[in-house]
Amino acid sequence: DYSTPAHKDYELARSQLELGEIIGEGQFGDVHRGICTVGGQKIQVAVKTCKPGSDMAVTEVFLEEAYVMQQFDHAHIIKLIGVCTDSPVCIVMELAKLGELRAYLNNNRGNLDLASLLLYIYQLSTALSYLESKNFVHRDIAARNVLVASPTCVKLGDFGLSRWINDQSYYKASRGKLPIKWMAPESINYRRFTTASDVWMFGVCMWEILTRGDKPFQNVRNAEVLNRLENGERLPLPSSCPPQLYSIMCRCWAAQPDSRPSFTVLKEALREILSEEKSQ
Ligand code: ADP
Repeated sequence: DYSTPAHKDYELARSQLELGEIIGEGQFGDVHRGICTVGGQKIQVAVKTCKPGSDMAVTEVFLEEAYVMQQFDHAHIIKLIGVCTDSPVCIVMELAKLGELRAYLNNNRGNLDLASLLLYIYQLSTALSYLESKNFVHRDIAARNVLVASPTCVKLGDFGLSRWINDQSYYKASRGKLPIKWMAPESINYRRFTTASDVWMFGVCMWEILTRGDKPFQNVRNAEVLNRLENGERLPLPSSCPPQLYSIMCRCWAAQPDSRPSFTVLKEALREILSEEKSQ
């Protein structure tokens, strides 16, 4: 019910928004840079639009991401600023000025040192430990869902899949869209998504960051991934990745979900490795 009071707080008037250039493409429509006037202040924002003419059901699914984001308040999670519920419906969020992490890593391969990569990984672990404390399962942790706010700050930016998998019909209709190469074996086999499967995905996301944006299992077909994992194969050690860090990733990829560390434990371990790296 989108007319609940909690909702009203987030409603923006069209006149508060100025749309600028297109900066991305979402599954529901374009994403624009923009300016939003709130409390007399003008702030830079990202505006996700839902294609005009979308029916009510599509609009509701689109807006659901906003209702997920609205529950969170964390330095490394993109904040919701508001929604416009009259057509064209849009979601207004905090802008991550430097865009997608994968592109950023690819474009800055030469000048990103290990300390920067570790910082990003650590920041994401704090966001995920926060979600873990709220018993929120993300289900789509991957570098493509991480945005770069500044050279020293990344944020988790996409809550799209958290809603999707609850919807069995969507799952059946678009199996092909599942991020198989990031998923834990129990998620692929039984659609089981838990904090432990999020930890597995975070291990893959660490690997993407440490390889500066390589694609996991690049030349492997989706259908082949599960076989390999069940045979004990794992993503390889990225070049110039400290063994300590690779050992953490491998713990995230324990076959048994119970054997994987929690995000709270990961966060502490990463904090130590980061402080050692900084002091060198
Ligand atoms: P969807 O979940 O609907 O597919 P995304 O969240 O992936 O949409 O957004 C599409 C693209 O728009 C992203 O890949 C990114 O390039 C850009 N984008 C989305 N949100 C932001 C933001 N808050 N700041 C900057 N760019 C963003």
